[in-house]
Amino acid sequence: MKVLFLDRDGIINVERGEYTFLIQDFSFADNLFSFLMSFINKGYKIIVVTNQGGIDKGLYSKDDVNDLHSWMTNELNNRGIEVLEIYYCPHHDTIQNCLCRKPKSLLFEKSIARFGIDPVKSLMIGDNQRDLDAASKCGIKGFLVNSNPDWNEVRISEMLK
Ligand SMILES: [Mg+2]
Ligand SMILES: [Zn+2]
Repeated sequence: MKVLFLDRDGIINVERGEYTFLIQDFSFADNLFSFLMSFINKGYKIIVVTNQGGIDKGLYSKDDVNDLHSWMTNELNNRGIEVLEIYYCPHHDTIQNCLCRKPKSLLFEKSIARFGIDPVKSLMIGDNQRDLDAASKCGIKGFLVNSNPDWNEVRISEMLK
């Protein structure tokens, strides 16, 4: 299986410069859906890996994140975009050390083992170097983009070759 791994904030939804955990504060990035469909049409599955350290900071709960993610996956499903899994790290490095917060790679390792993913055929897209560093520890090639891109303007051909 080949997978398009995605960071969440700044990639799927608009990075607001503060934690997003409410549906009302969540807006999909411009032209995201057609961008993702290009990968789905090439046989990629989609997995999201996101740091949600606001949970550790007590700013919101796992239930908040799970509710938002249920809504988000439903919105994507309605547009023909299936999300295989969403992995999130609830820890923050100012509170505790963990093995799952990017740039650590545990969440990638878990997904590779669970779904039998071929890392060499897979990709990671993130707006932060730590997203790419986490993926590269598992042999997954990463592409760094600006936060909140217009996905119509991101050159997809380089990613798909
Ligand atoms: Mg991000
Ligand atoms: Zn963690």
